[in-house]
Amino acid sequence: MASTSATAAVASTLWNQINSSRSVSDDQLSILHFLYGKNLERATRIVDQGGVRKVSGFPSGRFLFLVVGESKRKEEYICFPEHHCTCYSFFYDIVNRSEQLCCKHQIAARLAEAVGAHDEVSVSDEHLALMLSKL
Ligand SMILES: [Zn+2]
Repeated sequence: MASTSATAAVASTLWNQINSSRSVSDDQLSILHFLYGKNLERATRIVDQGGVRKVSGFPSGRFLFLVVGESKRKEEYICFPEHHCTCYSFFYDIVNRSEQLCCKHQIAARLAEAVGAHDEVSVSDEHLALMLSKL
């Protein structure tokens, strides 16, 4: 799969469009599929199962996403759609080999947030900091 800066630019433009329309058209879905391949299907499955939660700290408004994995253990990954995920694939495929643009959890978080398919959770900033300290 291509992972050039051109591809990243296409992805970023596309996400901006999706974010502003709050929906995903069939054409956009095809492009997403081109960009992310099988990870897109996995991501939409996670979104459909309600696996994305946005956790916001109060009062700072800083936030992160918790995304449920697909394994039987249903573990949750802490995910920043643009730059980080705590899953193994993020470390192995993206940081080490830079073969993909991002992992399925990041795609799921972006998709869910764009179309409003995520749950919102509010916690104190202390609690959020504690979650981040475990990264
Ligand atoms: Zn991940």
